[in-house]
Amino acid sequence: MDTPPPIHVGCAHCGAKNRIAAARLGDHPVCGRCGRELLDGQPVEVTDDTFDAVTAGTDLPVVVDFWAPWCGPCRAMAPQFEQAARQLKGLAVLAKVDSDASPLVSSRLAIRSIPTLVLFRAGKEIKRQAGAVQAAQIVAWVRDA
Ligand SMILES: [Zn+2]
Repeated sequence: MDTPPPIHVGCAHCGAKNRIAAARLGDHPVCGRCGRELLDGQPVEVTDDTFDAVTAGTDLPVVVDFWAPWCGPCRAMAPQFEQAARQLKGLAVLAKVDSDASPLVSSRLAIRSIPTLVLFRAGKEIKRQAGAVQAAQIVAWVRDA
């Protein structure tokens, strides 16, 4: 009887805020401005410029992986993070911030070690966890939020 409210998703590519009918989250929604797919089950790259648009502009939980190319444990975790993104498709947005390329957001959030995962809801930090984890742990951590 009640139609669920639409879901807002901030585009990681152009920063546009999109409104998607809840029933259509699984129908490959694309960004109204740039046309890129919004919830394709892949981690999205977020930068100092797009961080707020994605974390505050998205109604789904947003999990941000702070990493850097020189960090071995970060690189080792990347396939696990990708697997978790596929498993959480339509339920959460998984995003990656290269803390070298985007130092402002990392310093604002006082990221002290990488990899660190931070979970946001409506732009607010809900919890964080430092150190490399497996896909199943990431999925459980998000579902538990
Ligand atoms: Zn876009």
